[in-house]
Amino acid sequence: MSVKQNFEHVQASIQSACKRSDRDPARIHIVAVTKYVSVERAQEAINAGIVHLGENRIEEGLDKWTALGSQATWHFIGNLQSKKVKKMIHAFEYIHSLDRLSLAKEIDKRVEEGEKKKCFVQVNVTGEESKSGLHPDEVMGFIDDLKKYPSIEVVGLMTMAPFKEDKETLRPAFKHLRQLKERVEHLQLPHAPCHELSMGMSNDYEVAIEEGATFIRIGSSLVGKEK
Ligand SMILES: *Cc1c(COP(=O)(O)O)cnc(C)c1O
Repeated sequence: MSVKQNFEHVQASIQSACKRSDRDPARIHIVAVTKYVSVERAQEAINAGIVHLGENRIEEGLDKWTALGSQATWHFIGNLQSKKVKKMIHAFEYIHSLDRLSLAKEIDKRVEEGEKKKCFVQVNVTGEESKSGLHPDEVMGFIDDLKKYPSIEVVGLMTMAPFKEDKETLRPAFKHLRQLKERVEHLQLPHAPCHELSMGMSNDYEVAIEEGATFIRIGSSLVGKEK
């Protein structure tokens, strides 16, 4: 399938999910996750009208950024080692995986003077051992501590749900993240507006949207899987 056809299908599903949950489709941003595909396929996504691209590996992400650069807004969605921040920070406008203060400190150090980096705080709402992210109970304290790092702007919270055949079983996890987001939002912290929710992937984005997602990260069912 062409990216264009997949994109049309995803857009139609977003429309339906928004209708079911009385939401405005304009609030949903699609991040095409290009980690499984070539530069050419990522270009095809851009040509189809996709503006946000997501990568979880630094080397491959930078290769695509070098080739495609300013045609897209770049999102880093993978685990991020502090020592790698320096080489990637200029390319990615959003970081979805902020989960520790040592990483925040490094980002703050490497961001250009006077600039801000848009970060999502990653939360492990389902408590799976294999997933990174903060325990929900740690989130409020962590976000408070981030005020020490003036270059960090907490735009929202992010989670990665486990794969479940029955997507309904994920609904409580998405709802939990939304409630946490609302708690932070209500504090109206200057460094943490926290209006966004990065949740939902190919398998579960419709449920995530019904529960408030504003950035959905879709790989296989949008650009496909070449490797
Ligand atoms: C790979 C990946 C995705 C996309 O996964 P698909 O199931 O292919 O849509 C989304 N988010 C993160 C963090 C990923 O690593």
